[in-house]
Order: sequence, then C-alpha cells, then structure tokens
Amino acid sequence: VRGYTGRKVAVLGLGRSGLATARALQAGGALPLVWDDSPESRARAEAEGFAPFDLTRNAAFDDVAALIVSPGIPHLYPAPNAVIARALELGVPVDNDIGLFFRSFATRDWDGFDQMPRVICVTGSNGKSTTTALIRHIVAEAGRPVHMAGNIGRGVLDLPPAEDGTVVVLELSSYQTELARALTPDVAVFTNLSPDHLDRHGGMGGYFAAKRRLFTQGGPDRCVIGVDEVEGRFLANQMSVAPEDDRVIRISAAARLEGPGWSVFARKGFLSEWRKGRQIASIDLREMPGLPGAHNHQNACAAYAATRTLGLSPRLIEGALASFAGLPHRSQLVGEAEGVRFVNDSKATNVDSAAKALQAFPRIRWIAGGMGKEGGIVSLQPHLGAVAKAYLIGHSAREFALQLAGTPHEICETMDQAVARAAEEAEPGDTVLLAPAAASFDQYPDFEKRGEHFTALVAARLAGRH
Ligand code: ADP
Repeated sequence: VRGYTGRKVAVLGLGRSGLATARALQAGGALPLVWDDSPESRARAEAEGFAPFDLTRNAAFDDVAALIVSPGIPHLYPAPNAVIARALELGVPVDNDIGLFFRSFATRDWDGFDQMPRVICVTGSNGKSTTTALIRHIVAEAGRPVHMAGNIGRGVLDLPPAEDGTVVVLELSSYQTELARALTPDVAVFTNLSPDHLDRHGGMGGYFAAKRRLFTQGGPDRCVIGVDEVEGRFLANQMSVAPEDDRVIRISAAARLEGPGWSVFARKGFLSEWRKGRQIASIDLREMPGLPGAHNHQNACAAYAATRTLGLSPRLIEGALASFAGLPHRSQLVGEAEGVRFVNDSKATNVDSAAKALQAFPRIRWIAGGMGKEGGIVSLQPHLGAVAKAYLIGHSAREFALQLAGTPHEICETMDQAVARAAEEAEPGDTVLLAPAAASFDQYPDFEKRGEHFTALVAARLAGRH
C-alpha cells in the first residue's frame, strides 16, 4: 500500500489482518506503529521485526496519518475503545485493511496489482464463508485466476499480485464493512440477515447499517441480494431504480421470484434463474454433495448469481456446483457407517444456523451445547421435528435441557461422551449432527477445534469398527 509513503500509520490489533497490514504498509514505504493489548500478539509482531509502540500513551498520535483497526476490536459499542476515541478526537482518520485495499485501487497506487481485478464482496449473517468459497470454486472451474481473502483464509493485504482477468472474492463481516472508509466492490452480495453481534453494533439497526455500507458506499455495478427478510427486500428496493432494472439480482430460498427483474431462487431443490419474466436456467441441486439443505441452496443461488454477473454460463456453473466439496465445519459429512451419517456443523454457533442444519437431514441425533447465547435454544422449538434425541454438552447443557421440554435428550457434558452415546443409539438412516447453537469457548479455543475434535472422535469410532 503506497498511500502513506514516508508517513507514520498506527495499527491497532495484531492478528492475521493486523500483521498483514503492517507488512503491506512497510512494503509501501510507510512506518507502521503497531500495538495490541495482548502480550502474545505483540510478541508475534516483534518476531516479524515490528517493535510494539504503545498506542494507549497520550502522545502516541503525534504525526500519525491514520489509525488502522482490526475487526476483532469493538470500536464504538458496547463502549468506545480508548485508542480509537483518542484518534477521532485528534482528527486522525480511522480505517481498516479493507479500506486500505479499496483506497489503493482508487488511487492505483498498490503495486500488487498491475491489472484491476474484479472484486466481489460477500456479506450477510449466515452463509458468507460458504458463498465466498463457492464463488471462488466456480471462477476457478471456469479457468480464471481467482483470489479469496477477508474474513476467510488470508487478510486482503496479503493477496498475491493479480494477473489479467483476476477475480478477487472477499468475505466481509459487519465489523469490516462498518469500519472501512473506502468500500467499492464491483459486485456486492448480501446473503441474509438475522440478529448477531448486536452488542457491538448497538442493536439490529446498527448491524444492518454496517452491512448496508457495502452497497451504499461505492455503488457496485451489480448487487446480489437475499430477499427472504424484510431488510433484504428494503435493500434491493433501494439499489434498483426500476423493477426491470438488472443492477440487482434478487435471490431467495423461499419465494418464486418471477417478476420483471433479474432473479435466482431455489424451490424444492431446484435453482431457477429468471430475467425479464422468462426462465433462463434450471438446475437440480438435490444431489449436490457439498450443498445439503435449503440454506445451502440459498448459498448456491447467491454464488450462481454473482458468477453470472461475470458472464459465466449456467451449464458451467452447474458443473462447478456439483464438484464443490463444501467447507470444513459447515454441514460437512465426516463419516458414514452402517447407514448412519456423521455431520460436522461446528460453525453453527447461533440458533439461526443450527435451525438450518436441523432442517437439512431427516432423522437427527443432535449434539448441541457449549457457551449458549442469550435466550438459549428457545427459538429452535419449531425446528426440532427431525430430532430423535439431543446429546447436550458444555456450559449450557442444563439450560438447553430445560428448554428442550418434549424432545428426548440427555446431558453428556463432553464431546467424547456425546459422540459415543449418539453413535450407540443411532439407527440406519440417522444423522449424528454436531450443530451446537452455541459458542465453543467454554471447552475449545474456537469452533474449528471443536469440529476437529468431533471429526477425530468419529474417525476413531469408525476405524475401531472395521
Ligand atoms: P458465515 O461465514 O456467514 O458464518 P458459513 O458459510 O460459515 O457462514 O456458515 C455458518 C453456519 O451457518 C453453518 O454452520 C451453516 O449451518 C449455517 N449456514 C450456512 N449457510 C446458511 C444460510 N444461507 N442461511 C442460514 N444458515 C446458513
């Protein structure tokens, strides 16, 4: 990033994206002043040759051109971050790596890119990673150079140089869209909206506003918008000037969208593309191994629509959807024996994503629990029809047990016990599903470790069987 050559730039938060930012700034001739409250993170930066610079000190912002903040740092809510508040008071611009990335495009000053790539950004409450990875897969299958970054894989400022025709796919969380000062994708994708991270956004309004910035800051050429919630319908309405306008592609996993505009929807396992009142394509999604369940059909619609804007053909996209292997920890089939399937959906950390997984399989032995969110699993009551029995683990096991009322359940405490009990009791046709509806940090460092543990236990069981 060259915009700050010869200037000091403060970098707050030294995780993956913070370190990538420091490296990119340094490569562009700026002087990064790096800080993180955690001594371990500071040590990692030091190991890379960045001496920590205490940004909490009073005079820290003398001559500083900008403050770049990591997505993990709450900046306004529930309480303003002191370093950020100080920068704002002094008139120091506050931005993030995504903002730097787009800014370097606008000013064409990032030597990483000789050619302007097309940038597709994906946001939404659920399905972001799956949709992003699916877009990457489809573009790669089409034989075009493609890079994936943001909230998935690597930080944006770690991207390798682009070649001619490169497509960059970025997954962006609401934390990232909220902070970025420049946000100018060519194609913006909004999957869906459900309450999440509300404490950090000052409520649902702030959360939606953060995501909406992806559309309203730069004015993308194309907008792919999930319209299964009223917020998505509102956003689609805002981004198009006339009903037949093809700037917006509306997507749905629920409604038949056969209006005058451009739409992609999934019904009963079939994806349909419609344009100006005519059907353009129809794809059978039911046997696609990497995309089980209606929620994945929504993701397929989003990725299909986004890649159609690149001019890829329905047939090519169909082939790529069929060869998508799925992402680890998202409704991932990790084992099968004697008619029982084992599915790792450790990423289902909230009730909405768990609800989707619970509707994707016919008879479920459900492993749930961990660090439950506010309200526990009360709202899952209508989605428990396929649950033969729940096996509850972790901090919230007892709370969840009380909330399960009529559904058979037992408290297992640990994953080992839950997998053992569920596997013992499973009958042919059952799916043993890890979809915790809770965060992992009471028992694991993150949802990946939780999913890996589940997968290892399943593998050990299945190995023992033969
Ligand atoms: P994100 O990146 O938005 O967190 P992921 O693709 O990682 O989304 O999926 C997270 C969880 O949400 C998965 O465990 C899956 O069960 C569920 N999920 C995936 N796609 C959707 C969707 N379109 N709607 C609702 N839930 C979904």
